[in-house]
Amino acid sequence: MKVQYLTNEVAVAFFQKLRSLFRGGAGTDDAHVLIFYVRCNRCGEVIRVRADRRWDLLQELGDGAAGYSLHKDVLGTQCNALMRMLVLFDRTYRITHQEIEGGRFVSQAEYETHRSTDRASLR
Ligand SMILES: [Zn+2]
Repeated sequence: MKVQYLTNEVAVAFFQKLRSLFRGGAGTDDAHVLIFYVRCNRCGEVIRVRADRRWDLLQELGDGAAGYSLHKDVLGTQCNALMRMLVLFDRTYRITHQEIEGGRFVSQAEYETHRSTDRASLR
């Protein structure tokens, strides 16, 4: 009887552990996600660009200065102007350079403001 009881305890602990691993896994995913906010030069639309460090970054092997680069083409929904984004990172994933053709980088606050203004204007 005692053994049975212990086994249940272990099973419960195991599933709790699994569940926390699952949640932990999602959190780890977020750690890899890079979010950028860009504003289209043509129509002013602010677009949220999501990239994943693991899949979207290219390894750059320069002269002793290894790092990563991210190239993304960004297309909004309000016009057909394509923006070309380039972000460079050092080995520790710190951004060392960022530029965008056809748009500019904006803050998250600006993105949120733009979105709420957008919604307000629809009413
Ligand atoms: Zn646009």
